[in-house]
Amino acid sequence: MEYAYLYFHAALKDFISPAGQNQVIVRAVDRKPSIKDVIESCNVPHTEIDLIIVNGVFVDFDYIAQNGDQVHVYPDCSTVTHESDRPLCHLSPPIPVPPRFIVDVNLGRLARYMRLLGFDCLYRNDYDDQSIAEISCKTQRIVLTWDRKLLKRKIITYGYFVRTDNPKAQVRETLRRFNLYTSFAPLTRCTHCNEKLISAEKPAITHRLKPLTRQYYNKFLICPGCNRIYWQGSHSMRIERLIEAFCRQPMR
Ligand SMILES: [Zn+2]
Repeated sequence: MEYAYLYFHAALKDFISPAGQNQVIVRAVDRKPSIKDVIESCNVPHTEIDLIIVNGVFVDFDYIAQNGDQVHVYPDCSTVTHESDRPLCHLSPPIPVPPRFIVDVNLGRLARYMRLLGFDCLYRNDYDDQSIAEISCKTQRIVLTWDRKLLKRKIITYGYFVRTDNPKAQVRETLRRFNLYTSFAPLTRCTHCNEKLISAEKPAITHRLKPLTRQYYNKFLICPGCNRIYWQGSHSMRIERLIEAFCRQPMR
């Protein structure tokens, strides 16, 4: 039998069982698999990886694993001590600007919160994995999911495996992972259907307003997708405080 020896670093250890996190993982490579397949057999999706170093040399996902390979795998944003004079060979491409997302069916509240912050975030509770992968590939949307199998699909370039099951913590994870702190546009997008809100003239919508709203507010936005009306005050203090908390960049 022929074997490769894998070492996962930093946040990639999240994918390894606690008992194995600081140990070498051994994989058979008799069939000459690509390093992508070897790494993903350890349950680490390629979308989480930025650097692969085999026997001291940077390689990409197509590298064919060889007997005796010592493989070090690093996530995006990791700090690698680099002694070779070769440049670092980053595998994660730059995130598209502006960043846009597609969220899998289990993360509806994450999608709503991201829309609240102004991010273009596609979500439908009847999307299947194939549709999500194809939309992500065609439109360069970042897949947010807790389905590792989905992220292993080769056509997905941009993705993030959400670690926690708490929706607010999921937002904070996503903001941190993609460094989105300068990209907020709160209360500019419909949280129900993801359309960008446009301004509405008060006379055109006045018949749809409740008496107190009609009396006290003059600036309105409307969703061209679902026709919902928004105005300053239509979000509770609780929501505004939540947005403020999301926008605060954590200390490093
Ligand atoms: Zn809408």
